[in-house]
Amino acid sequence: MVLVFASNNAHKLSEVREIMPAGVEVLSLRDIGFTADIEETGATLEENSRIKAATVAAFINDRMSASLNDEMMIDGVFADDTGLEIDALGGKPGVYTARWYRLNDGMSAAAPLNDEMMIFAANRRKALRELDGKSERGAQFRTVITLIDVRPASPARREKSEIQVEGIVRGRIATEEYGEGGFGYDPLFIPEGYDKTFGELPAEVKNGISHRARALAKLVDVLKMYDY
Ligand code: IMP
Repeated sequence: MVLVFASNNAHKLSEVREIMPAGVEVLSLRDIGFTADIEETGATLEENSRIKAATVAAFINDRMSASLNDEMMIDGVFADDTGLEIDALGGKPGVYTARWYRLNDGMSAAAPLNDEMMIFAANRRKALRELDGKSERGAQFRTVITLIDVRPASPARREKSEIQVEGIVRGRIATEEYGEGGFGYDPLFIPEGYDKTFGELPAEVKNGISHRARALAKLVDVLKMYDY
């Protein structure tokens, strides 16, 4: 099976490739020549996940008419949208997780940053600031994956051309950063049942229990159900 993962995030792509079972080939946006930026204009993780998958599916369907997909044999496109949901903040930053550092918190909005590592670091500082002095530090990562079938008139397509699944990992936010593995908020997130952050735990451990791994496991189950 050949699926396109609609993300430009190299960290996510390598996680997804490690987690997906053998037999599912995961192509990147670069592999299919998709270079545009996709604006995440949705109000929920569900909407943003769908926007990303639908934009790339439309691109493939256009190119398919130029018979590109005859070569690539793409079965579907999937996209994930992930949010960090912090209990003490009523589920924030949620859909604003990627650029949380820019959300006005009483001060003027921070200037936009270009460098990914600097954005991740600024987001983590914001999380620590927002939870400063708070003892309730429970949180979860939630991933919503949307899969869109791009096979011409496949049985699954007739039945259900779009599938959405969710994966959640509960945990808590550390009081300072630990570890340099993973990406984003990983150095701050201690998953339930562990006393180390995702930044400290080996990638195999994170990829066995993470929000993304759980959503992908459900996706694989659904693919089997629809005899993909
Ligand atoms: P996106 O909108 O799904 O690309 O992700 C939103 C943001 O969530 C990313 O920019 C990261 O800051 C954060 N994020 C997503 N997945 C993870 C993860 O596995 N660990 C830590 N942070 C993550």
